[in-house]
Amino acid sequence: MKTAKTFSLAQRDSKVAQILSLEAARQASTINLIASENHASRAVLETQSSVLTDKYAEGYPGYRYYGGCVHIDEIENLAIERAQKLFKAEHANVQAHSGSQANMAAYSILLEHGDTVMGMSLSHGGHLTHGSEVNFSGKWYNFVPYGVDPKTEMLNYDEIERLALEHRPKLIIAGASSYSRIIDFERLRYIADKAGAKLLVDMAHIAGIIAAGLHPSPVSYAQVTTATTQKTLRGPRGGFILCDKEMASAIDAAVFPGMQGGPSMHIIAAKAVCFFEAMQPEFVDYQKSVLENARVLASELQRYGMRIVSGGTDNHIVLVDLSPQGINGKDAEEALEAAGISVNRNTIPFDPKPPLITSGIRLGTPAVTTRGFGIEEMKRIASLIVKVLSPSGDKRAQEQVHQEIREMCQQFPIPGLA
Ligand SMILES: *Cc1c(COP(=O)(O)O)cnc(C)c1O
Repeated sequence: MKTAKTFSLAQRDSKVAQILSLEAARQASTINLIASENHASRAVLETQSSVLTDKYAEGYPGYRYYGGCVHIDEIENLAIERAQKLFKAEHANVQAHSGSQANMAAYSILLEHGDTVMGMSLSHGGHLTHGSEVNFSGKWYNFVPYGVDPKTEMLNYDEIERLALEHRPKLIIAGASSYSRIIDFERLRYIADKAGAKLLVDMAHIAGIIAAGLHPSPVSYAQVTTATTQKTLRGPRGGFILCDKEMASAIDAAVFPGMQGGPSMHIIAAKAVCFFEAMQPEFVDYQKSVLENARVLASELQRYGMRIVSGGTDNHIVLVDLSPQGINGKDAEEALEAAGISVNRNTIPFDPKPPLITSGIRLGTPAVTTRGFGIEEMKRIASLIVKVLSPSGDKRAQEQVHQEIREMCQQFPIPGLA
């Protein structure tokens, strides 16, 4: 039998090829302000589509359940060493397929079903896996949510301490998906110790900012730190877990064989590339620019009369409360999408509207900063957002904005696609 003929994707499956090229064109011609997204580098994209796709490697470097793992071990060791170095951690597990699975694995060794846990309420900025009732976390564990202070819209550590001493959780989870302020991990560890709890920090959103040294690191305070590589860290879609040496083998066993089978070695290799990129001096400049762009976006929107939750931002996220404008999050998301600006509707703390409607939108600067947008472009985007969301923001305004957006996008091609 002859070996299979080699086809390019376009020759083999023109339907999929066409959808991919439409998506590339969509990304190239729209502005992405979705705070959890980014544009991975050419090197990361290339590694993900590499020959490692083919390899089974259940186990860990040095003890695999499959033969032929010599180079697989090299690549996983490299990813582990780089993660440990980047975050000054004693141990890294880089096999978790996603941030949610990293959390699931970590909870499985820290908790028994039914145990009491504290996590930030989803409606105040927490994540699905921090106790939402539609998620395994809320079904398996007894979550006591904490939120932000109604006045400051920031975490109220005195209140978290009071709740912890009242409920005596076994674990406190810190970290968020739509919280724009510095999180005080030192204080949370103090609270956890006082309440007899362990601390898990889920730094999924802010891992890149932490890697660049621009947000305090949780690694020396949390017993376990979980994260994703696809958000501010600008790598492939995936998770990883950091912990001390004493917990290393338990964490590894929780991921495999605890809840996963074979690791995605092409993704682990791309994680290694992502950690390497995050160690470069340019990455610190990039993160500085992400933060500066977020601050400029927030203050410009405020200048136009928009209300920013908590009054500003310390990270890459800008949470906008649109109730003064009389427009809800869903309608705003759709109007902006029609004008070539991608954002997501988002609940604001104490939101009177349901989660599918919401009173707010969440904006983020990682993806546009990767494209090279700076202060001038952020000011322009703020004015375009205001134009679309203003009472007179009709279809014609959307079309005008879309045209401007297309021109801006042409000036700033996406590096990984260019
Ligand atoms: C994005 C996110 C996750 C989950 O990541 P997935 O890779 O989408 O599973 C977990 N925790 C927080 C706080 C997040 O923002």
